[in-house]
Amino acid sequence: MEYVTLSNGVKMPILGYGVYQVTKDECERCVSDALKVGYRAIDTAQSYFNEEEVGNAIAKSGIPREEIFLTTKVWVEHYGYEEAKKSVEESMRKLKTDYLDLVLLHQPFADAYGAYRALEELYDAGKIRAIGISNFYVDRMVDFASFNRIKPMINQVETHIFNQQKEMQEWADKYGIQLEAWAPFGEGRGGTFDNPVIVKIAEKYKKTPAQVMLRWHIQRGIVVIPKSTHIERMEENFHVFDFALSDEDMEAISALDKAQSAFFSHQDPNMVEWFVKMVEERKMNKDSSKEKKNW
Ligand code: NDP
Repeated sequence: MEYVTLSNGVKMPILGYGVYQVTKDECERCVSDALKVGYRAIDTAQSYFNEEEVGNAIAKSGIPREEIFLTTKVWVEHYGYEEAKKSVEESMRKLKTDYLDLVLLHQPFADAYGAYRALEELYDAGKIRAIGISNFYVDRMVDFASFNRIKPMINQVETHIFNQQKEMQEWADKYGIQLEAWAPFGEGRGGTFDNPVIVKIAEKYKKTPAQVMLRWHIQRGIVVIPKSTHIERMEENFHVFDFALSDEDMEAISALDKAQSAFFSHQDPNMVEWFVKMVEERKMNKDSSKEKKNW
């Protein structure tokens, strides 16, 4: 395994395993498989509703806790200082751990500053080894890095062959922020796995398109957290340290950049409204289930 060193000196594996869209039913088995394959970094989030299953797999693995780099993310409805603090404690309970390696603010909305102050405090108290942000675009990242006491150590953003985040990488370097790619394959959107440039390079190195894409991120110094529910693919995605792409091949992949999201823009007001609606609906559901419990 190779590691990156965050601005506070903490070492983080450059390759981990992500569990977005891994169902509650499958998650414990998937994380157990990933740990068996050799992954030692797991990326989950409060909004994936599978922290408990991640915690079960880690507890049952027998692997010492300090050998695993565990990340979770605070969801928007838990923003604001008090709520964020409570929610991280709840995440630790679900994950069966008394500290977290990395906690990120999942989205750049609502009272992110209040939530970040809670992360800073938990960081000071030694409960979180590193703190950061996710889905903050360049302007918001610079703003956030400048007007907080502790600079985020990570920004986790959509990064793949069609949305390469070149400008983001320049600014992240300037502020000492490590980039982490979510959807390192773009979830296959736009035909990432079948792209002729990627397929040709894969044939040349006798590797798969997935391995070439991961290797390309790693050679750019970007942390990757590919997701798969299949153990054979977890293995395939793990074996990316026994070859290196030439400068020419790195450049050929660089030329594929469309510099736009394959998903949605966090700057689109319709999407912001969508997030607001989701937070309101979840709050309403929570309140009504509380009322029911009181009846
Ligand atoms: P990925 O780019 O990792 O793509 C996952 C898809 O690729 C799945 O459909 C998987 O299928 C398939 N796949 C995986 N490996 C292979 C392979 N070797 N060959 C062919 N197909 C393959 O997308 P994700 O959205 O899952 O992103 C990865 C992680 O990033 C997430 O799990 C999560 O931890 C994080 N994330 C964070 C976000 C944020 O807002 N901060 C947003 C989105 C993701 P299958 O499972 O069937 O094998």
